[in-house]
Amino acid sequence: MGSRLVLRRGPAAEVIAGIVAESGAAAVTVTRDYEPLAVRRDEAIHEALGERGVALRRYPGRLLFEPEAIRTSDGRPYRVYSPFARACHLAEPPRRPIAAPKELATPDVWPQSERLADWRLYEGRPDWAKSFEPLWQPGEAAGLTRLAAFLDGDVARYRAERDRPDLQSTSRLSPHLHFGEVSPHACWHGAGALAEAGGTAASGAEKFRAEVLWREFSHHLLVQFPDLPEKPFRSEFAAFPWEGDKEALRRWQKGATGYPIVDAGMRELWTTGTMHNRVRMIVASFLIKDLLIPWQEGERWFWDTLLDADLANNSASWQWVAGSGADAAPYFRIFNPVTQGLKFDPDGAYVRRFVPELARLPMPHIHEPWRAPKEVLEAAGVTLAKSYPWPMVDHGEARKRALAAFEEIKAAGERDGGA
Ligand code: FAD
Repeated sequence: MGSRLVLRRGPAAEVIAGIVAESGAAAVTVTRDYEPLAVRRDEAIHEALGERGVALRRYPGRLLFEPEAIRTSDGRPYRVYSPFARACHLAEPPRRPIAAPKELATPDVWPQSERLADWRLYEGRPDWAKSFEPLWQPGEAAGLTRLAAFLDGDVARYRAERDRPDLQSTSRLSPHLHFGEVSPHACWHGAGALAEAGGTAASGAEKFRAEVLWREFSHHLLVQFPDLPEKPFRSEFAAFPWEGDKEALRRWQKGATGYPIVDAGMRELWTTGTMHNRVRMIVASFLIKDLLIPWQEGERWFWDTLLDADLANNSASWQWVAGSGADAAPYFRIFNPVTQGLKFDPDGAYVRRFVPELARLPMPHIHEPWRAPKEVLEAAGVTLAKSYPWPMVDHGEARKRALAAFEEIKAAGERDGGA
């Protein structure tokens, strides 16, 4: 586009003000960001530029609806998804994606740029990203190709199959959406056209839009509650009697819990940088409720390992599973890892892929090897506690413990409320 990229490092306000001075820029234009750190950063830039009489122009782009635009009838932000989604459908429709400009204005004198190689951001040893290459191609072109392919194909199966980790029928657009390589507007209008056309893809397209609105909802929540990544939205959960230890956390992280669907998910995460949504819910429930480990530990691990790690989606989703979120699953709904496995991985294909030491176990034993007859285990080459771990907790017992822990905070809440 006839322009250049200028690379600089340092405190954002200082660096931007420096570039403005060197280039003679009259204004700075950015896309509005909603993460608490980014909001503070942009405020600092705004102040630094204001002192020089230069405007910081912030435009929407990351979200379909600005948080200020979606409010209840008495002007408050929504805390429950369904009315939020209804309000979005009734609001001014999101703008259609616009084409990239053909050229950009350039300064007479170019500010100096640092060299990316000098930053030594990535030495390539060990090459953590090697196994991601066949699965994920960063960049706008790859993202738009994926969106087009999804809307052309898998979206028709999306409503029926989106909960099946073995089938991979979701869009896998989350990293592209997170990094701004694909806009939610392109998703919204692309799917909207299919929904209106009313063919076989219509129902899947509607469901896909509903998921894009969960992203929206999470971001709006983060704006109204910037502590979402650290503190429970429902304050009574601050006193939750957590128990789990470091060793239990480590076994969960490594995918060595003895529950095949949990281990498959955690190993998928480690080797591919992603994890299917249904399995994210199962592993999160297992960490929080079966192991009684604080959700923030799981949130941190996902943050470090997910390609789509996103402050708003990650924290809102962890709080959803924990029951402490704004619009959360009721605490007592505890995922049973065996029945979840049987239902959503009905042939065991997902577990076979990521837990190869169980690959020769037939259904239904692959989801609960500790109940398999001795001869079935022998024929499949599985020795419990040797080739594959024994379950680290008994789910039935763990469920009772979790419910008792919940009763404790409920009782304390009622006492405080009554006092
Ligand atoms: P699709 O099913 O194709 O959905 C389309 C888009 O909608 C996604 O790309 C995503 O942007 C959005 N979306 C879908 N489901 C959700 C949801 N539940 N909440 C918010 N947005 C959603 N998603 C992230 O992008 N980053 C995270 O860090 C993240 N952490 C999560 C942690 C837990 C414990 C759980 C249960 C879910 C988390 N999710 C997160 C939400 C969801 O799992 C992923 O967005 C989804 O799996 C991405 O796959 P996809 O692009 O194929 O989704």
